[in-house]
Amino acid sequence: MGVVAKMMECDICERKCLIEPGGYGYCGMYLNREDRIEARYPEHVSVIMVWRIESLPIFHFYPGSRTLVFGTAGCNFDCHYCSNAYLARGYPDDVYMMRLEPRRLVERARQTGCHNIAFAMNEPTVSLDYYLAVSEEARASGFPVGCLTNGYQAERAARLLADASDFINVSVKAFDDDFYRDYVDVEGLGPVLRNVAYYHGRTHLEVTTPIVAGLNDDHILRIAKWLGDIDTSIPWHVFRLLPEYKMADREYPDILQLAGAIREARMFLDHIYFGNFAGSQWLSTYCPCCGRRLIERVGLGGCGAKPVLFDLDGLSCPGCGNPAGISGECVDWHSAETREAV
Ligand SMILES: [Zn+2]
Repeated sequence: MGVVAKMMECDICERKCLIEPGGYGYCGMYLNREDRIEARYPEHVSVIMVWRIESLPIFHFYPGSRTLVFGTAGCNFDCHYCSNAYLARGYPDDVYMMRLEPRRLVERARQTGCHNIAFAMNEPTVSLDYYLAVSEEARASGFPVGCLTNGYQAERAARLLADASDFINVSVKAFDDDFYRDYVDVEGLGPVLRNVAYYHGRTHLEVTTPIVAGLNDDHILRIAKWLGDIDTSIPWHVFRLLPEYKMADREYPDILQLAGAIREARMFLDHIYFGNFAGSQWLSTYCPCCGRRLIERVGLGGCGAKPVLFDLDGLSCPGCGNPAGISGECVDWHSAETREAV
């Protein structure tokens, strides 16, 4: 008698898809093959390019450094306003991907003079095995590695992700379950908050919140307070979202109105940044103790923020001597050493 193939639960993210034999789950990236959950496109990338680390955004880990960014396809969320829906929500078979073994990806980082490596184009949870393999290879070669995530990992995957990451930026998209149900297509934000708290202290953590006009702009104070209760020094990026995908006709958030809410939120957090538009005045890092400007950044539009001045004594404020809340070291992109690396 032959063995009957069975339904399998994918336990990588909190969606916990039940997958039929030969089928795949919501993200399209995990397959039930002979009663095992396997990556459908192992070791394949859709994107590989060089960015400033600030563009991720990560502002407090090796500021000014050069990051090799890579991504695959698929997502376990369906954010209605997604600005990256072609990669995240397209059918993965339609996205051009190429095989790139972890060893070769790390080699590419070396060739392009990068200081670190980040999984940042889509959700790393949907390609967890690949991310873990890249991390191992990267660390063996001396490269820190990190990712941007929606934080919806199940507990085991969250442990693996934290252990494999030197930095993580979690997107906390709103502060109520209704938003997650109505605009993201998951049951709620509980697992996201659980994982933010878990990542804190285990890896360098920053948080991003994309603001969708009229939907979550009134969540700013509540998110800031919740983060501040964990640690007032968590850098928080408020992202002025320009909706695309199913919400392409929606208005853009009003910059001055958001700036007012952010000013109030500063009572809860030391470092709140506000960007994704050219000329932002809210991208520099200030000493939380004496207010001195420690890193001056200019906005380049989009996610771009470029450090133009470091005023630090080691990793401390030259004015009052308090730690600046920076991990690693500052990298001057324009230094001869960095230029020669390319
Ligand atoms: Zn100071």
